[in-house]
Amino acid sequence: ADAGHVKVVVRVRKFIRRELDSKSPCLIEMRPHNNETIIHPPPVTQEDPKGTRRQYEERSFTFDKSFWSHNEKDAHYAQQHDIYASFGEEFLDHNFDGYHTCIFAYGQTGSGKSYTMMGTLDQPGLIPRTCRGLFERIEAEQNSSITYNVHVSYFEIYNEHVKDLLTPRTNPPTYLKIREHKSDGVYVQSLTDEPVKCYEDIERLMKTGDMNRTTACTKMNDTSSRSHAVFTLTLKQIQHDIATDSTIERLARMRLVDLAGSERANRTEATGQRLREGGNINQSLTTLGRVIAALADPKRQRAGRVTGLQNQAKRRAEVVPYRDSVLTWLLKDSLGGNSKTAMVACISPTDYEETLSTLRYADQAKRIRTKAHVNQDAVS
Ligand code: ADP
Ligand code: MG
Repeated sequence: ADAGHVKVVVRVRKFIRRELDSKSPCLIEMRPHNNETIIHPPPVTQEDPKGTRRQYEERSFTFDKSFWSHNEKDAHYAQQHDIYASFGEEFLDHNFDGYHTCIFAYGQTGSGKSYTMMGTLDQPGLIPRTCRGLFERIEAEQNSSITYNVHVSYFEIYNEHVKDLLTPRTNPPTYLKIREHKSDGVYVQSLTDEPVKCYEDIERLMKTGDMNRTTACTKMNDTSSRSHAVFTLTLKQIQHDIATDSTIERLARMRLVDLAGSERANRTEATGQRLREGGNINQSLTTLGRVIAALADPKRQRAGRVTGLQNQAKRRAEVVPYRDSVLTWLLKDSLGGNSKTAMVACISPTDYEETLSTLRYADQAKRIRTKAHVNQDAVS
């Protein structure tokens, strides 16, 4: 197994209309030479004449990479391509080697998660770039001894329910069940897993999925901020060795996850108010926080290395609560398991509290260890 840790990058977006209108200052500074991200306290304003916000401190964090997408004119400006080039391509390499991967975007609503993952028609994000890259490689590496099979699934977790985004919506909505298989692990039962032959096939599915996602919420205009969207590509490589007449199969899964807005989890923790408002919509996000905290805990990592009876009780007490939410149960492998995993922490340039909370969350995530292995079977 290939031991590593969750790769964590941070990306700050440009000002949006509201921030420009209120003339909010940019609180984020990035030092590209050492990947440092610094958050400055907001200045004293008219709404806060006593400067109570002065209690906020300057804080500095270091991640695997800092992406400055705030100001296009800056020499260090990170475009959509730069994000893909910095780890999207690397993750595709891992997939072709037979490793599972997972990239998830975390951050408050409006911080740039969907822009980073899906992007726009003019500025495609990680998902379309990964899909394109996948088929470019398949076409370039085509030879008679190897066959490629690609499948796509796309589902949404809303209110702890799983909905297939590739099937037409039904009334009442159809919720899919989660099952656990001894060897195959956790999966969504009856989820559409569409075979695709080219990038255009996937493009069509992405459109269908995004339409099913947004139109599902005409009554509640912020569904996308409350739901988690999980896009999964499965790559199967079947390699036939003529000399020995043996066949080897490699299976790699790439999960690309656009999480619900993190402000929900924070506020729920603080006041419990949102929870009452909208049912258990935050369960997946709050559990994700607890799973990350448990996995990042150095005590747990030490316990994992030491054997002996006295540690068994300790280990049991520190069980990671994967099963407490749909998201964490389904992503169990991606979090501290058999996967190479990256988190993109998306931040707004202006919101001190939410941004600091995202940076702290990301700081914890980078301590998570993973143990990816090549998923390969000799078929004959
Ligand atoms: P989220 O999915 O986290 O709620 P979005 O991705 O929808 O946030 O981003 C909010 C707004 O900011 C959108 O209008 C989006 O186009 C814009 N935006 C986000 N990140 C960037 C970026 N890096 N460059 C330019 N515009 C961005
Ligand atoms: Mg979004």
